[in-house]
Amino acid sequence: MERPTSYFGRHVFNEKAMRERLPKDVFEQLTSAINGGQQKLDSRIADVVAAAMKEWAISLGATHYAHWFHPRTELTAEKHMAFLSVDERGTPLEAFTGGELIQSEPDASSLPSGGTRSTFEARGYTAWDPTSPAFIIPTENGGTLCIPSVFLSWDGTPLDMKTPLLKAITAIEERAMRMLRLFGNRGIRWVKVTVGAEQEFFLIDEELARRRPDLVLCGRTVIGCLPPKGQQLEDHYFGAIHPRVLAYMEEAEQELHKLGIAIKTRHDEVAPCQFEFAPQFTEANLATDQNQITMSTMKRIARCHGLRLLLHEKPFAVINGSGKHTNFSLMDSDGHNLLEPSTSQRRNVQFLAFLGGLLLGVSKYSSLLRASVASPGNMYRLGGNEAPPAIMSVYLGNALTDVLNRLEEGFPDEIPTKGLMDLGLNKLPSIKKENSDRNRTAPLAFTGNKFEFRATGASQSIAGPLTMLLTIWAWGIEEVTNRIESRLGNTDIADATLDVLRDVAKESMAIRFEGNCYDPEWHEEARRRGLPIANATPEALAYYLIPENRDLLSGLNVMTDREITAYYETRLEQYVKTVDIEMAVMDDMIRHGILPSISRQITQEGSALEKAASLLDDGLETWKGHMKTLCGIKEALLQKLEELKNFRKKIKMEELEDSASLITGDGLKLMNEIRSLSDAAESWIADDLQPFPPYRDLLVIH
Ligand code: ADP
Ligand code: MG
Repeated sequence: MERPTSYFGRHVFNEKAMRERLPKDVFEQLTSAINGGQQKLDSRIADVVAAAMKEWAISLGATHYAHWFHPRTELTAEKHMAFLSVDERGTPLEAFTGGELIQSEPDASSLPSGGTRSTFEARGYTAWDPTSPAFIIPTENGGTLCIPSVFLSWDGTPLDMKTPLLKAITAIEERAMRMLRLFGNRGIRWVKVTVGAEQEFFLIDEELARRRPDLVLCGRTVIGCLPPKGQQLEDHYFGAIHPRVLAYMEEAEQELHKLGIAIKTRHDEVAPCQFEFAPQFTEANLATDQNQITMSTMKRIARCHGLRLLLHEKPFAVINGSGKHTNFSLMDSDGHNLLEPSTSQRRNVQFLAFLGGLLLGVSKYSSLLRASVASPGNMYRLGGNEAPPAIMSVYLGNALTDVLNRLEEGFPDEIPTKGLMDLGLNKLPSIKKENSDRNRTAPLAFTGNKFEFRATGASQSIAGPLTMLLTIWAWGIEEVTNRIESRLGNTDIADATLDVLRDVAKESMAIRFEGNCYDPEWHEEARRRGLPIANATPEALAYYLIPENRDLLSGLNVMTDREITAYYETRLEQYVKTVDIEMAVMDDMIRHGILPSISRQITQEGSALEKAASLLDDGLETWKGHMKTLCGIKEALLQKLEELKNFRKKIKMEELEDSASLITGDGLKLMNEIRSLSDAAESWIADDLQPFPPYRDLLVIH
């Protein structure tokens, strides 16, 4: 057995590979560009890097390269190009130039753009992002060198998730540096955003999954009775991992290690067949790419183990859904975590100023956070009794809340960091105690030395939520810095900051909530506080269009006004199309599966009832009643399918926003009605007549 340290990063063109394969001056220019140096890469360097990258990739079996990018579908995209070329004499050779490394023109005209380009001017370009290292996805007969890239239209309009993220990262890093300078940190060279995304997922037997059109086509079930044993006992949570799942996890981890991704934790989650992987945190742009690589690698390896990976936010009704807790903080070039409370008062003043920036930003722009997690799948999760509600609030924990409430008395000498807790068991050592208890119900929570955003959906790219979080925080940091600076004439920095933070504590009262966010009382309270509440996806997406939000995004150079509109439209269109596909799949499964099964059940029951009636003179009223129920369900389902057909016709005739609101209103209601009827039928159909594997079987791994 090879040790993970020996193969970690083998498939990544990382610093080690670059150092080995690049001339020293090229290596230095490239790493300086990667680490935020001012100088842009010139094309001579690109040629040298391309040649080294090609040789490295070919030595690992790669035959192709691809610019790997993040269109606005939440997934990644790639168009493979062969290294193989033939020269004018017919001699085969392997070619890859600097030009090809820097830019590619995949066209990609069918990817969503929200109307920012029409097909006749559809050219799309991808451009190399050297800040995220190239990597190889190996296959049995070769492999592909993937080059992380941004995706732009012919006129430079961004069409992807990465470009706005990179801009938001720049926005916050610049402002964080300014605040650090204000606090007298002279030697700091850079600030980076650090991110770790905890990935929840379901694993289902592939054979069973394949027999369910809803799982195959939608990634979630649209019909199905609840299993007799779901998550009532919570006995799956942190249980011993099933050997088949563990074997899968080990292989997935090994593949991810080779791709430079360190998976730190793995465990069973609350729902049956639900699990979680958490990586070691890293720089935000890289963490985003790594999460995409993690999702696709996990999907690929699952197939090899006869398993199907489900990343949907709500694959099964009533059973818990999957999220992706997005942990984030800021780190400076001395390795300090800027959200780490400290025993030094000077550092704590600075810590509170960064914290204050986030509180102020969320107070003003929490609707953007809500918009960033609005997706068709996440709608079934947010607001359920398992995930944070659709209201964006911040949880700070007792210790910090206390600090903020007592700013009138001045700064505390010390903010409790992890203290020691004596267990009172004399043979065990003392352990570290957290400074914040864990309220699991808040969407945005301080967890000791970082924030955790819990509303991200499991299938989402974290680029969307991160872009909004970082933009909001960047604005808040700038605001706090400005306010401190404007007071500096009269007082010293600590007093100026104290003064500003007192205001911030007051101004952020509305979004701070320490109680149980699942409590219906909180919804009432949030309404009284005037917080934005959007339960449905289209309502939440419309928050992008609020003039203040648009001004923020364009003001901080994250997205232009035109891009915001396009982004909104892309998302809304995705919502309408996704629900329409789900309706079509539901219709198909009921028409071709459930309805014929009901008839077979009626036929069997009918002949049994006839026989029974011929043996007995009277009675059998309950049985006869049951037959009526079955016939009634069939009749009602037929009627509802007709309604569904007409509804789908109707929404196709409407403008985008109108069809979205029709879907949210009548459409989802109709789907619920159909599902109830179908599930009632399923509960009466004999096992050998069931058209689809039931929840009872799906939610068990053998
Ligand atoms: P918990 O959610 O219980 O706090 P961990 O402390 O293991 O669990 O952290 C969960 C995730 O948060 C991991 O992916 C971890 O790498 C990430 N994380 C930890 N510290 C930071 C940080 N300073 N910045 C960003 N992410 C972090
Ligand atoms: Mg966590």
